[in-house]
Amino acid sequence: MTRIENPSVSIQDLSLNFGAVSVLETLSIDVAEGEFIVLLGPSGCGKSTLLNCIAGLLDVSDGRIFIKGKNVTWEEPKDRGIGMVFQSYALYPQMTVEKNLSFGLRVAGIPRDEIAKRIARAAEILQIEPLLQRKPSALSGGQRQRVAIGRALVRDVDVFLFDEPLSNLDAKLRAELRVEIKLLHSKLQNTMIYVTHDQIEAMTLADRIAVMKGGVIQQLDAPQTIYNRPVNRFVAGFLGSPA
Ligand code: ADP
Ligand code: MG
Repeated sequence: MTRIENPSVSIQDLSLNFGAVSVLETLSIDVAEGEFIVLLGPSGCGKSTLLNCIAGLLDVSDGRIFIKGKNVTWEEPKDRGIGMVFQSYALYPQMTVEKNLSFGLRVAGIPRDEIAKRIARAAEILQIEPLLQRKPSALSGGQRQRVAIGRALVRDVDVFLFDEPLSNLDAKLRAELRVEIKLLHSKLQNTMIYVTHDQIEAMTLADRIAVMKGGVIQQLDAPQTIYNRPVNRFVAGFLGSPA
C-alpha cells in the first residue's frame, strides 16, 4: 500500500464481525487531507459497515482508526470531528430546516451568533436560504438531501462521510447533485469518504476509488487507473472496463 504522509483518516487492520460472520477483514486505507475517496462495490460488500465504524456508530472487532493523527477507535461519534450524510434524509420532521441545521450545534453549546453565521454560510453554499423556515415535509427529495448535507456542513468538520446520499433520487436530480457535491468539495477542500454502488458517481467524483468485495478492498487507485488497469476480473466486470 502506498503510504500517505499525515493522512486525514487512517484505517489500520480493521476487522468487524457480526457474530460468526466476518464483514470486514483486516482492512487498511489511508485517506489524504482534502482527498475525495469513493468506496465502491456491490450491495452487501461492507461499505456502510466500514463508514459506520469510521463514524463510531459501530464498534470494531479489531484494528484502529485515526482521524487527523488521533486514535479515535473508542471515541464517541460526536468527538470524532466527522459529519455524516445518510441515504435516508434523517431530518427531524417536526422542526423547520433552520432548526434541523441548528439543533446539534445548540446541543453542543455553540454560541447563538456563531450558529447563525454557520447556517447563513451553509444556506448560501447549498442554495437553501428560501427553505429555512419550511418543514421537511414541504421539501422535494433533492431539497431534503441538500439540507442533510447542510447539517454536516454547519458542524464545521474536516471529514465528511456520505453513505449513498443520492440513491433515493431520480436520475436527473442525481446528476445535478453529483455536480453540486463536486463543487462543494472543491470549495471546502475537505476530506470526503463517499459510499456508492454507482460506477458513474464513483468515476466522476473520486480522486481515488476503493473497489470493495466481501469486506476486502480489491483495488485502490485513481478512476482512470482502475478503469484501464483493473487488477482482477471482479474489478473489471464491476467497472465495465474493456476486456
Ligand atoms: P453495503 O453497505 O456494502 O451494502 P453493509 O455494510 O450494509 O453492505 O453490509 C455488509 C454485510 O454485513 C451484509 O452481508 C449484511 O447483511 C451484513 N450486516 C450488516 N449489518 C448487520 C447487522 N447489524 N447484523 C448482522 N449482519 C449485518
Ligand atoms: Mg450500504
